[in-house]
Amino acid sequence: MSKNNKLNTVPDEKGFFGKYGGKFLPPELEEPFAEIIESYNKIKSDASFINELRYIRKHFQGRPTPVFHARTLSMDNGGAQIYLKREDLNHTGAHKLNHCMGEGLLAKFMGKEKLIAETGAGQHGVAVATAAAYFGLECEVHMGEVDIAKQAPNVSRMKLLGAEVVPVTHGLKTLKEAVDSAFDDYLTDYKNSIYCIGSVVGPHPFPLMVRDFQRIVGIEAREQFLDMIGELPDVVCACVGGGSNAIGIFAPFLNDPCELIGVEPLGRGEGVGDNAASMTYGHEGIIHGFKCYLLQNEDGSPAPVYSCASGLDYPGVGPEHCYLKDTGRVEYVTCLDTECSDAFFKLTRLEGIIPAIESAHAIAYALVKAREMKTGTILVNLSGRGDKDLDYVLENWEMKTK
Ligand SMILES: *Cc1c(COP(=O)(O)O)cnc(C)c1O
Repeated sequence: MSKNNKLNTVPDEKGFFGKYGGKFLPPELEEPFAEIIESYNKIKSDASFINELRYIRKHFQGRPTPVFHARTLSMDNGGAQIYLKREDLNHTGAHKLNHCMGEGLLAKFMGKEKLIAETGAGQHGVAVATAAAYFGLECEVHMGEVDIAKQAPNVSRMKLLGAEVVPVTHGLKTLKEAVDSAFDDYLTDYKNSIYCIGSVVGPHPFPLMVRDFQRIVGIEAREQFLDMIGELPDVVCACVGGGSNAIGIFAPFLNDPCELIGVEPLGRGEGVGDNAASMTYGHEGIIHGFKCYLLQNEDGSPAPVYSCASGLDYPGVGPEHCYLKDTGRVEYVTCLDTECSDAFFKLTRLEGIIPAIESAHAIAYALVKAREMKTGTILVNLSGRGDKDLDYVLENWEMKTK
């Protein structure tokens, strides 16, 4: 038995990863969540569910996505060789569809007619709307009015896909209010619908279920890397917002002698409100029905967060990551906006791959680590493509002309 075997036994029956996770819900939501837990536990080992998900991954999403050796980038940088797991080539351009298709299929097996979700920047909303269109389900995406104004292209995508975008007009009119609104709506309509969470966050069973759906990334990458190189990578790294792309690639490597590293957004720096590095600066707290490292105000309410990557600016983080940090199995580091923008331009110019700003955080760390290591290999989860970020980049970052 490997000394890390206990890492494969979380969460416990109540959804706890050590002291993190769980299910902190208003009593009215206990029943709908209990129904999801029961159904998921039944369906996850059902052969027809597994076969249909396998078919979808291959023929609709385009999996397996390749592992690519970034030779030019590695040579320019010096040191260890950098490899990319190309989740940017997954249908819709990011890893998020991996769990949204799983959640959609679960809804179908449960006989539900509608998917309900919240979205911040709109990436999760687009993935859920895509799954709903595929399965012929209704879709309702709750989104703050402020975000609706900022993310017009994603709002159009969701509408084209047939989703109803519900504007949220209270409070700060952003992600937190959108979650509250989606929960309220789910409560009134749970017999007919299922709630689709956007990452390995939220009440049990979502951190477990979303991890299981994202595991495919690491399962493929591990096999592909072994095929290409004949041995495992020395380091595996990924950016961490809620933590779904990171846990997806880490999970199958937990018992291997590989260094696993999660990269959090340091934004403009260490000050409160300048970053979204929950595990680096946060403390144990509860948000959206689960316990985790949380960036919080003195009264325990979530603190304001910032990152140039809208997919990373969440004050909490998946409970399994908190557990993996405390056990020491995974190390969590940070990356500034400025380091991220350098890496964004380097990968674009040297390899012809425009990464999502989120993914560029992981690339930035890999460049530093590769120079430190001198030899060896680093596998980076390139969680998504940067098409969605082009306007932001042109407006905010000075173009590097070489
Ligand atoms: C949403 C998103 C992320 C952050 O979410 P995780 O759950 O931390 O993976 C990272 N990369 C891309 C491309 C995203 O769209």
